[in-house]
Amino acid sequence: MPSLSSAHTPLDIDAERLWSSLMDMAKVGPSPNGGSRRLAISDEDAAGRRLLLDWVEALGCTWHRDEAGNLFILRPGQDNSLAPVAIGSHLDTQPLGGRFDGVLGVLGGLETLRTLHDHQVTTLRPLTLVVWTNEEGSRFSPAMAGSGVWSGRLAQDAFFDAKDSQGVSVSEALEATNQRGDAALGSPELDAYFELHIEQGPVLEETDEPLGIVTGVQGIRWYDLRFEGQSVHAGPTPMSYRHDPLLAATAFIQAMRDELGDDRDARLTVGDFSVIEPSRNVVPGAVKVQLDLRHVDETRLSELDAAVTRLAQSAAEREGTRVDIEPIWHSPVTPFHDDLIRTLGDAAKARGNEAPQMMSGAGHDAVNVSHVAPTAMLFVPCLDGISHNEAEYASPEHCALGTQVLCDAVVAWANR
Ligand SMILES: [Zn+2]
Repeated sequence: MPSLSSAHTPLDIDAERLWSSLMDMAKVGPSPNGGSRRLAISDEDAAGRRLLLDWVEALGCTWHRDEAGNLFILRPGQDNSLAPVAIGSHLDTQPLGGRFDGVLGVLGGLETLRTLHDHQVTTLRPLTLVVWTNEEGSRFSPAMAGSGVWSGRLAQDAFFDAKDSQGVSVSEALEATNQRGDAALGSPELDAYFELHIEQGPVLEETDEPLGIVTGVQGIRWYDLRFEGQSVHAGPTPMSYRHDPLLAATAFIQAMRDELGDDRDARLTVGDFSVIEPSRNVVPGAVKVQLDLRHVDETRLSELDAAVTRLAQSAAEREGTRVDIEPIWHSPVTPFHDDLIRTLGDAAKARGNEAPQMMSGAGHDAVNVSHVAPTAMLFVPCLDGISHNEAEYASPEHCALGTQVLCDAVVAWANR
């Protein structure tokens, strides 16, 4: 007889079954050194989804796809007029990708469905396991595209017309792999969204924590700066006569680094720096700097934004040059939902873990979903913080604990 679960009937997942599913999925599109290669909307990606569908069909679940190929696997609740509670992540990988990035979130969701099936539990609200299309962004740009177009944060043209290096568009690839569905983008409306993921960074391992509750994703600001001076001959021109934009630019970058001090939550990256018309024996006329600035606190990010202008102008003036600052992109700090964060924290505690709260340094589908549904994430450590790499590894114990807490939290939320 199906029943609501309660705190008195713990739903224990099957850790071995979870691990063997992770290893089975890794064999679909194997990469040479023990990782996986399932590029978005490729035959291998479709085969990985087919394997998942074989598994969920054995549980009696139904499924459908939307126009972007996002896959929604449905498990009915007691009241199917209520919006479903979603668990999701992605099955596509980098060209030389790992076995856990995205896959753990999907197969942790599968293990949750299997556990409910084993215990003959029907939650009050229906559940849906979501596999988002093209999270990685390596075959088709941008990343997090399926959740982006589903949530309305990515334009449909930008999604469907994106082409890979062979000139194949997302539309064509969806047709070729039979992944395009009929369901309208944005449907179904979700009651909540939970995503389990490997951390892809070193913090949990460094602090010896098996679990982290993700409270949000850091904010990002991008800038193009152009320092302009005067091109002159390197020999005859004394230093006091020069207007050297390269000296201004490097002084600015160092001043920004000093501004951050020992703030562990700040990230400053100059990934592209170029001299316009470079020549060894000419003082440059102009220098371009591309700046990527990140922080977990929006107030601090705004302060650093002001510092970019202030420090760039003062560095430019000191060298008798000018600077143009063009803000390119601002993705504000994305906070996740307090009630879901609390639900995950309570579930961790009930399994004996005081999981610390943390912010995510990487983007995830959860960021897009959080704009349309209450969302939270759970991290487990990965070895040496390595991800997007065939050597990516998360231990069976950590995968199991993350999945158990995911399962408990989803059931608690779906029964509230
Ligand atoms: Zn991922």
